[in-house]
Amino acid sequence: MQEFEQYIGGDFSKASANFESLDPASGTAWALMPEAREADVNAAVEAAHAAFLAPEWADMTATARGKLLYRLADLVAENASELARLETRDTGKIIRETSAQIAYVAEYYRYYAGLADKIEGAHLPIDKPDMEVWLRREPVGVVAAIVPWNSQLFLAAVKLGPALAAGCTVVLKASEEGPAPLLAFARLVHEAGFPAGVVNVLTGFGPRCGAVLTSHPKVAHIAFTGGPDTARHIVRGSAENLASTSLELGGKSPFIVFEDADLESAANAQVSGIFAASGQSCVAGSRLVVAASVKEAFLAKLKAKAEAVIIGAPDNMATEVGPLCTAAQVACAEDIIARSLAAGAKLVTGGTRLEGAGHYFPPTILDCSAAPDAPCLTEEFFGPVLSAVSFESEAEALDIANDTAFGLASGVFTTSLTRAHRMIRGIRAGIVWVNTYRAVSPIAPFGGHGLSGHGREGGLAAALDYTRTKAVWLRT
Ligand code: NAD
Repeated sequence: MQEFEQYIGGDFSKASANFESLDPASGTAWALMPEAREADVNAAVEAAHAAFLAPEWADMTATARGKLLYRLADLVAENASELARLETRDTGKIIRETSAQIAYVAEYYRYYAGLADKIEGAHLPIDKPDMEVWLRREPVGVVAAIVPWNSQLFLAAVKLGPALAAGCTVVLKASEEGPAPLLAFARLVHEAGFPAGVVNVLTGFGPRCGAVLTSHPKVAHIAFTGGPDTARHIVRGSAENLASTSLELGGKSPFIVFEDADLESAANAQVSGIFAASGQSCVAGSRLVVAASVKEAFLAKLKAKAEAVIIGAPDNMATEVGPLCTAAQVACAEDIIARSLAAGAKLVTGGTRLEGAGHYFPPTILDCSAAPDAPCLTEEFFGPVLSAVSFESEAEALDIANDTAFGLASGVFTTSLTRAHRMIRGIRAGIVWVNTYRAVSPIAPFGGHGLSGHGREGGLAAALDYTRTKAVWLRT
């Protein structure tokens, strides 16, 4: 069995305990992971805190920090196939997706490398002739970065990139589900030449590891991606250290199709928008809101495309939908489908787990037009399940789209420019994609509101989140 180590203070080591990681394609153990507990977490935070104060990092110029990030980006690109292979092996995410995603993980590090020496302070024109006043932008300190399992390398990059560009140090906690890619990534951080303790990578479980980390007195900022319930625990824990938080949580994103849309292109976007990553994506377009006049035609297209999807082993380049990450998610999908059918939803396709080894669940579509209160329309869960509702008017489409406690992403498909603008104004979500879905770029901020959290990842604003200002008054 392959064995992985944690990375603390520039050293690779065994942790207080170990646990076995399961291969989602077979359901069997394939690797032994280090399980960080309180002592490991404390050691990692102390290492990060010491590195934050040490001159090797504290006095390093922003340009030099940027160069280290460029080196890291190059190493990620050079090791892309191995990182993608490990992510596929440990999480079941198909190789086609992990390979594509790793390319833009490197781009995120490049973007923040270039940004490191562009994080500027400001001069303030105070109304006193004998006073010079300015703002310095300084790094906040030790950052606790916590990620879920579904896109670990990417979700780590959107935290590490801006945090390191700003001059912070980081303790990154990989998810206990599929931590292999981040533990391997730690070797690239080491090779890139960051001073010891600037980046520390460990993994472990929520209460024994994540909670200890986020409530640690030497943590200044918590960058968390995960579910709303965990976020609540973290925010309560941060009452101890009063750390600032950025929370990237779940979504129940509407995918709105008007009768004037290019239905073929909308159907392709909807299929990848919900079934990519087997639906295990926070921005999955899980609620189809479709004009009643085209509902039957659109659902027929989706059914044909969903049934043609190639389901198979995640390490096969031909596979389009792989297994879910855990057995618990298969059970969750089954449970929510059963409750939604009982509430009046109609099954269009899929709906039952596939026989045999592994956590396979087929692309599933539910027509909830007669069941507006079906749980599949309101409860966030990770699975390849699309829930459709129809509308008669633009106002009704907007009401349905906004009828959610989440506010992360949305998609609008229409050929009317003026309608697109009205929808853009009316939708309450952090992202609106028009006639496209799931496009990302390091330059464009990403995040939501409501139960989807707060704060933004990507773009310049994310780097500023890892800084605080110091007002300087100088009598001349
Ligand atoms: P989760 O909240 O169960 O776990 C996320 C991370 O938090 C894991 O590393 C876990 O070990 C850790 N954790 C658990 N309890 C903790 C505690 N008490 N204190 C500190 N850390 C703790 O989420 P999950 O099931 O792994 O991932 C799925 C969730 O993540 C979904 O809700 C999904 O929408 C969300 N997500 C959001 C985004 C986004 O960018 N908005 C992206 C991906 C996933």
